[in-house]
Formats: sequence, C-alpha cells, structure tokens
Amino acid sequence: MPTTLAGSCPECETDLTVPPIVQGETLSCPECLLTLRVEGIEDGQLDLQMVEVQLRDWGQ
Ligand SMILES: [Zn+2]
Repeated sequence: MPTTLAGSCPECETDLTVPPIVQGETLSCPECLLTLRVEGIEDGQLDLQMVEVQLRDWGQ
C-alpha cells in the first residue's frame, strides 16, 4: 500500500504528493492555490479537477 498519492495540478502542472485521501476530497495546490477535487484514484495517481469555488453569492 502506498503511503502517499501523487498527482499534478491541472492548472500549473506542479507535481503534488499528498497523504492518502479519498475520491471527492479537495486539496489546495501549493503553487497556484487553486482548490482541486479528487475525481479518481488509480494506482496511486490522483485524477484532479479544478473546483469552482464560490466566494460569494451572485444573487442575480
Ligand atoms: Zn497549481
């Protein structure tokens, strides 16, 4: 069992190594500070997607 998982930021392509997390969890890229969500995990590799963070209610 791997003790860490690896992935890369879809925005800045920084290589990320993180403690074991599960699908659906989020983490922040240390480089571009984007919030990334784990879409899937395969062979210790993370499939990361950017998350649209809602900073405020747009209200309309
Ligand atoms: Zn990044």
